[in-house]
Amino acid sequence: MSRIGFIGLGVMGTPMAAHLAGAGHEVSGFDLNAEALAKLTAAGGQAAADVADAVGDAEVVITMLPDHPQVAQVVLAPGGILDHVRPATLLVDMSTIRPETSIEVAKAGADKGIRVLDAPVSGGQAGAEQAALSIMAGGDAADFLAAKPVFDVLGTTVVHVGPHGAGQVVKAANQLVVGGIYGLVAEAIVLLEASGVDAATGLDVLAGGLAGSRILELKRTSMVAREFRPGFRIDLHHKDMGIALAAARQSGVALPMTGLVAQLVAAARARGHGSLDHSALLKVVEELSGRSLQEA
Ligand code: NAD
Repeated sequence: MSRIGFIGLGVMGTPMAAHLAGAGHEVSGFDLNAEALAKLTAAGGQAAADVADAVGDAEVVITMLPDHPQVAQVVLAPGGILDHVRPATLLVDMSTIRPETSIEVAKAGADKGIRVLDAPVSGGQAGAEQAALSIMAGGDAADFLAAKPVFDVLGTTVVHVGPHGAGQVVKAANQLVVGGIYGLVAEAIVLLEASGVDAATGLDVLAGGLAGSRILELKRTSMVAREFRPGFRIDLHHKDMGIALAAARQSGVALPMTGLVAQLVAAARARGHGSLDHSALLKVVEELSGRSLQEA
C-alpha cells in the first residue's frame, strides 16, 4: 500500500480518490473546493491544508485537474508539487491536457529526480464511480509498472501506450471519436423525428446493428428525452477538441471531420450550453434545422 497525494477532487477525482482509500492506500487530498475535501474525509481519506501538505510525504502523487494551465500551476509553478515532493516520487497526471504540457512536466520532473507519467482516462463519471476506467499511460515502461497497482484500483483497461505525451495523444483520438459519434447520433435523432418515425424505436434498432456503440447503448434514452445533466461537460469537450486539432497541426495531418465536430461543440458552448453534458450537441444539430424553434 502506498501513501498517495491526490490533487483535484472534482467529478472524476472524488470517486477515484475514494476507491484508492477504500483499497487501503493512505490518501491525502487537496482541492480548492472545501466540499470536495469533506467527501474525501467521508470516504476514508485525509483532507490536506494545501498542495504541500498533500504531497510532502507521498510516494505517489496523482493530479486530476481541468486543463493544462491548472496542471502547470499546481505542478510547475513556484510552491507547486515539484517543490514539495521527495526524490523518486511517482507523479501521475491523469487530467486530459495537451501533450506538450505533459512532456514539459516530465522534463521538469526528471530535472528534480521525479518520475512522471501522463495517464488520462476514458469512461466518464460512471467509469470513475465503478472503478472501470480505461487508462492510457505515457512515459517510461518501468514507471508504468510501478504505477500499475494503483491504476488497477481505478480501471479495467490499463495500457502503456508509449513515451511521455503518448497517453494524451491517445486520449485526443478518443475524444474526437466520441465527439463525432455524438454528432452523428444527434443527426440520426433529428432525421427520425423530422420524418415522423419514433426516435427511441429507431435507435434501438441502430444499437443492435453495425451502427451500435457504447454511446448509443448508454446515452440514446437520455438524448431522446433531452436530459443533458453532466456527465462530461461541453466545456471540457471543447477543450479536448482543441487539443485534438492542435495535435493534428503539430503532426502535420488533416482531420476534417474533427474540425467540423469541433465547430459544432464550439457552437454549443457559444449558445450557453457549456455546462450541459456533451450529448447536448443534439441541441445545436436541432437548431441547424430550426427544429428546437418549432418545438418551443
Ligand atoms: P472537475 O472540474 O469536476 O474537477 C476538477 C477539480 O480540480 C475541481 O474540483 C477544482 O476545484 C479542482 N482544481 C482546479 N484548480 C485547482 C488547483 N489549483 N488546486 C487544487 N484543485 C484545483 O473536472 P472533472 O470532470 O473531474 O475532470 C478532470 C479532468 O479529467 C479533466 O481534464 C477532464 O477533461 C478529464 N476527464 C473528465 C471526464 C468526465 O466525464 N468528467 C472523463 C474523462 C476525463
